[in-house]
Amino acid sequence: MAVLLKGEPVAAALRKKIRAEVSALARPPRLAILMAGESAASRRYVERKCDAAAEVGIGTELCALPAGAGRREILQLLNHWNEDDSIDGVLVQAPLPDRSLEDEVFGAVDPAKDVDGFHPHNVGLLALGQKDGLIPCTPKGILYLLEAYGIPIAGRRIVIIGRSRIVGLPLALLLQSRGLDGTVTLCHSRTAHLREIAREADLLISAVGSPNLVRAGWIREGATVVDVGQNFFSDPSSVGGRRLLGDVDFSVVAPHCGAITPVPGGVGPMTVASLLENVLLARQRGAAKSLQPSADA
Ligand code: NAD
Repeated sequence: MAVLLKGEPVAAALRKKIRAEVSALARPPRLAILMAGESAASRRYVERKCDAAAEVGIGTELCALPAGAGRREILQLLNHWNEDDSIDGVLVQAPLPDRSLEDEVFGAVDPAKDVDGFHPHNVGLLALGQKDGLIPCTPKGILYLLEAYGIPIAGRRIVIIGRSRIVGLPLALLLQSRGLDGTVTLCHSRTAHLREIAREADLLISAVGSPNLVRAGWIREGATVVDVGQNFFSDPSSVGGRRLLGDVDFSVVAPHCGAITPVPGGVGPMTVASLLENVLLARQRGAAKSLQPSADA
C-alpha cells in the first residue's frame, strides 16, 4: 500500500518552529494582503492565510478592492505598503480579475517583501540557484513535504505537469537546482504524449486543475505522486456543500504508487505554512538590513 504523504503533521511542525521564532522577535512580522474582486475561492484562501498567520503570531492587514479597481489604485496601494516599514510581507491574491495586469502588479511588489516569490528578481535568483531570494510557497512546501518523508530527488526522473508561475515553473527550477539535482521534465497543455512521459517518472507532480487527469496507466509502478490540483465541486452531501478533488484519480492510481499525497490534506497545508515562513524570513532579513551601517554613515 502506498505511503500517504500527509501535509498537516509536517506543516504543524513547521508552524511550531515559526511560532517560536516569531515570539523571539522584538516586533512581530506583518503581512499585507491585497484581494481584488469578489471571488469566493479567493476569499476562502485569504481567510485561511490570515487565520494561519494569527496562529503563529504574524499580524495581517487585508485590503479588499472591488473587481472594478483599476491598475492605478492597485499600484498605489502596493507602493504604500512597499514604503511602510511596519509591513514585512506583501501578497497579491491571484488570480486578479484582470489577468493581463498580473505581470505589472506582481512586479510592483518590493522584491524584499515579495513573500509569494513572483517578482522577476526572485524568479531570477531561483533560476540561478541563489539562495537569498524568496521562493514561491507551493514549490517550497512540496520540497519540505518530500524531505520530511525521505523521498529522494537527486538523480531521479521528475515529471511536472503544469508550467504556471505559481507552481510548475518555480518547482522545476527548484528541483533541478544544484544540491537537489533532480532531472526535470516540465509539461503543459501542448505537450504531446503526456501519458508516456508521465510513465517514465520516479516522481510525478500534477499542477493543472483538471480532475482525474492522471489515471492508472500514467504511473510507473512504485513512483511517488504529488497532487497539487484543487478542483471544487458543489456537493450538498459534503461539509460546506462542496467537495475538493485533485488532478489524480486517487483510488485507481494509489495502488500503483510507492507514495502519494492526499487531496485535501497533502500539499495545501504545506503551501500556507511556507507562506508564513517567507513572511518570517522577510522580517528577519529586513531587521538584519536595518542594523547594517549605511554607506554614508
Ligand atoms: P494555471 O491555470 O496557472 O496553470 C495550469 C497549467 O496546467 C498550465 O501550465 C497549463 O499549460 C497546464 N495544463 C492545462 N491543461 C493541461 C492538460 N490537459 N495537460 C497538461 N497540462 C495542462 O494553474 P495553477 O495556478 O498553476 O494551479 C494549478 C492547480 O493547482 C489548480 O487546481 C490550483 O487550484 C492548484 N493549486 C494548489 C495549490 C495548493 O496549495 N494545493 C497551490 C496553488 C495552486
